[in-house]
Amino acid sequence: MNIKDGFLSTVGNTPLIRLNSFSEETGCEILGKAEFLNPGGSVKDRAALYIINDAEAKGLLKTGGTVVEGTAGNTGIGLAHICNAKGYKCLIIIPDTQSQEKIDLLRTLGAEVRPVPAVPYRDPNNYVRLSGRIAQEMPNAIWANQFDNLANRQAHYETTGAEIWAQTEGKIDAWVAATGTGGTYAGVSLYLKEKNPNIKCVVADPMGSGLYSYVKTGEITLEGSSITEGIGNSRITANMQGVPIDDALQIDDTEAIRVVYQLLEKDGLFMGGSVGINVGAAVALAKAIGPGHTIVTVLCDGGARYQSRLYNPQWLASKGLSIK
Ligand code: PMP
Repeated sequence: MNIKDGFLSTVGNTPLIRLNSFSEETGCEILGKAEFLNPGGSVKDRAALYIINDAEAKGLLKTGGTVVEGTAGNTGIGLAHICNAKGYKCLIIIPDTQSQEKIDLLRTLGAEVRPVPAVPYRDPNNYVRLSGRIAQEMPNAIWANQFDNLANRQAHYETTGAEIWAQTEGKIDAWVAATGTGGTYAGVSLYLKEKNPNIKCVVADPMGSGLYSYVKTGEITLEGSSITEGIGNSRITANMQGVPIDDALQIDDTEAIRVVYQLLEKDGLFMGGSVGINVGAAVALAKAIGPGHTIVTVLCDGGARYQSRLYNPQWLASKGLSIK
C-alpha cells in the first residue's frame, strides 16, 4: 500500500516540470519545481512545517499554543493548515496590500487574521516587526519569524535542493529564483553549490526590491514597484546571509505578465505572479548563456490566489498594465 499519513507527510516531493513553450523558444531545458502542488498550495508549506517542527523540538511550542506570524499570505496559509493538523492556534498579521483571496482563505482555515497598513520594515509597525512584538506579549505563543529563522532555509536545503539534485540527476547548469524571505533561494543554492560549485545561482528580483542593486553594486536601492506578491526585499535577511549569489536579474511586471499568460495559454499552467518573475528570469538567463543548458526555477503558487488581480484585465488596467 502507498498511503500518506495525513497533511504533514504530503508536503514536498513535488514534480519537476519541463516548461515546454519556453524550453522550445530558448533551446534550453527550462524546468519548474511544482511547488503549487504542495497540500497548502505553495512553496511555503515546506518552511512552515520545518519552523513548527523546530519549535516543538526546542520545547518552545506546547499543547494549546499559538503560532504568530507576519506574512504576505502563503506562509500563513501553510502555518494555518499545519496548526489545524497539530492542534495549535494561528494568528496572522498581513499587509493590507495583499490579495483578498489569500486573506479569505486564511480565515476559512481558522486563522485569526489582522490586516495592517503596509509600511516599510524600518517602521516599528511594519507587519513583520508587529508580529514579533505580539508573539512576545502573548502567553504560550511562538513567533515563526520566517525571515530570520534559519529553519526556513534548512527546509529547502534538506528537501527542495535535494529533490532538484535527484530529479535532474545532477544535470543542472543554473538555478534562478526570486526571494521573499530568501529561504527557497538560499536552501537550494547552498545544497546545489555543495554538490557542484559550477552550478550558477542567480537571484531574480522584481522592480522595487533591493536585491538586484545589492548584487550589482553592494548597496540596496529601491526603485519602482511590482504587482507581484510575496517577493522582493529591502534588507538582507538572516536566511540570505552567507549564501552564494553568482548574479542577479531584474524582471519587470510587463515581462512577468507576458510569461504567466504564456504559461497559461501554451503550457496549461495557471500560476501566481512570482512565477512570472522566476520564469522570466530563467528565460533571460537562457538567452544570456545560450542553448543547450538546463535551468531550474520555482513555480511558487497557483493563479487562483490572484484571480481578482493578475487575471483581471480591469485591475491590471488600473495599474497601467495589460495582458498583451
Ligand atoms: N512566491 C510567493 C508567491 C511567495 O508567497 C513567496 C514567499 N513569501 C515567495 C515566492 C518567496 O519565497 P521565499 O520566502 O522562500 O523567498
